[in-house]
Amino acid sequence: MPIFEFVCQDCGTPFEELVRSANAVGEVSCPYCASDRVIKQISTFASQVAGSAGSITAAPAASCSSGSL
Ligand SMILES: [Zn+2]
Repeated sequence: MPIFEFVCQDCGTPFEELVRSANAVGEVSCPYCASDRVIKQISTFASQVAGSAGSITAAPAASCSSGSL
């Protein structure tokens, strides 16, 4: 089970949370102020593992997304 890093939007406290599934990410709340306005940080561990074709399929279709014309 991966551990994600979150940052609370209300108190600004960074914390780590063990998330069992992708759906559970939305259920994470701040352990300090109990706010559910948290943002998942990009893990440095996930960026290093770039060769494993896991369940995360985030394909950024970044081609001409700025909108010409
Ligand atoms: Zn908080």
